[in-house]
Amino acid sequence: MQVLSKTRLIKAVPGAAHAAAECLERGGLVALPTETVYGLGADATNGQAVARLYDAKGRPAFNPLIAHVPDIDAARQIAVFNADAEALAAAFWPGPLTLVLPRATACPVSELATAGLDTIAVRVPDHALARAILRAFGKPIVAPSANISGHVSATTAAHVATDLDGRIDLIVDGGPTPLGIESTIVACLDEPTILRPGGLARADIAATLGREPAQASETAEQSPLAPGMLESHYAPRTRLRLDAKSVEPDEVLLAFGTPLTGAKATLNLSEDSDLAEAAANLFGYLRQLDAIGAAGIAVMPIPHEGLGEAINDRLRRAAAPKTLP
Ligand code: AMP
Ligand code: MG
Repeated sequence: MQVLSKTRLIKAVPGAAHAAAECLERGGLVALPTETVYGLGADATNGQAVARLYDAKGRPAFNPLIAHVPDIDAARQIAVFNADAEALAAAFWPGPLTLVLPRATACPVSELATAGLDTIAVRVPDHALARAILRAFGKPIVAPSANISGHVSATTAAHVATDLDGRIDLIVDGGPTPLGIESTIVACLDEPTILRPGGLARADIAATLGREPAQASETAEQSPLAPGMLESHYAPRTRLRLDAKSVEPDEVLLAFGTPLTGAKATLNLSEDSDLAEAAANLFGYLRQLDAIGAAGIAVMPIPHEGLGEAINDRLRRAAAPKTLP
């Protein structure tokens, strides 16, 4: 992971939104205020920027991120709305409501940002500066809370700086965030389900839906990658063999660095052994190798440092024996 240049801090003056958009366009990481908490923004369509974001937060695993867009039309470009989702979006956007919906076919958001899921979390924030940045940038922005993983969410620019100074490119100071609590997350896949309580009350959601939403178990909310969610639905069908030092007959290879020889097909996560590049390629390459239908996928060792920890976590889950549905 390359060391970033020093973090810049700017006030919410005219031109701040453009400065933020320019930084995002270059693959930079920008902390920005929303009405809930400060988000750490990255270009959602740029896998390497998303990889740097996970690294800056020190996340040991790839949790799926929320994609922020300026309005519902932009949301429709990346997600598929059912009637419940339409009703909730009409009632509460812009606002502290995140919807988890099926990914749209042409969704340009990187697979790393959605952790390889075929659903996507999307939100229209109700904050003038956040929306100005979204409009200036013109693409979805992923923005998890702007704090080191495991710390409390940042509600002022000073909190952001305490955690992330030197690890990100820019902090846009828009003053304290009005709500100070994260968005409520509602999955509208079949029956609407609250995945995480937050700034929008359950009673308001129920009133709009005309019925009570279901409530996800705490473990599902804490860890959407836990068994039952990601593993059973999205793990490759082909057996994975980790830390491979050689390739066995009829195996395909997921390489890192100088590739092993003898595979019937090889995809290289990063020829230069760059962990951010490897993270950006991980989910797409797993899918492509899985589609070949080989006897197994041999996976070369990935160093267990920085982003390597999250990559290895995901590979371990993908290699775990699957329980039948
Ligand atoms: P934060 O990183 O604080 O913005 O929180 C993002 C939350 O959104 C996490 O709890 C994630 O588990 C959740 N999330 C994002 N995408 C999805 C998804 N596709 N399915 C379920 N939960 C999601
Ligand atoms: Mg958080």
